[in-house]
Amino acid sequence: MAEDTKNFKVSEFACKCGCGKDNIDQRVMNMAQTIRDALGVPVHVNSGCRCPEHNRKEGGVPKSKHLTGKAADLSCSKGAAVMFETVKRLYGEGKLPDLDYCIRYRTFIHIDCGGKRNNLWEIRK
Ligand SMILES: [Zn+2]
Ligand SMILES: [Zn+2]
Repeated sequence: MAEDTKNFKVSEFACKCGCGKDNIDQRVMNMAQTIRDALGVPVHVNSGCRCPEHNRKEGGVPKSKHLTGKAADLSCSKGAAVMFETVKRLYGEGKLPDLDYCIRYRTFIHIDCGGKRNNLWEIRK
């Protein structure tokens, strides 16, 4: 069971249909907090944990890390480009050791600790 951080409640990372609250990886919340601290503005959790049904509705891939509570999609007033660069900087400084994958979308970023992939950084439309 994850615990709230300074600026994030566990419930913000729960599935939108209300389930999955016990399934959230603390590392995702801690990463979101580190990113939020660096940005200095409120960060919105667009999507955290998803149950299989909700994941299908959102158009998530079948093996999405959101299913295991190890991923979050985040947005803020500074925009996805600034967030992406901030995450890169923090990672380079060793402040996001749990980060396994980061995708920059047009309006938000995806972060997860669902295991290393071939690449860490990706940009999608
Ligand atoms: Zn659900
Ligand atoms: Zn995502």
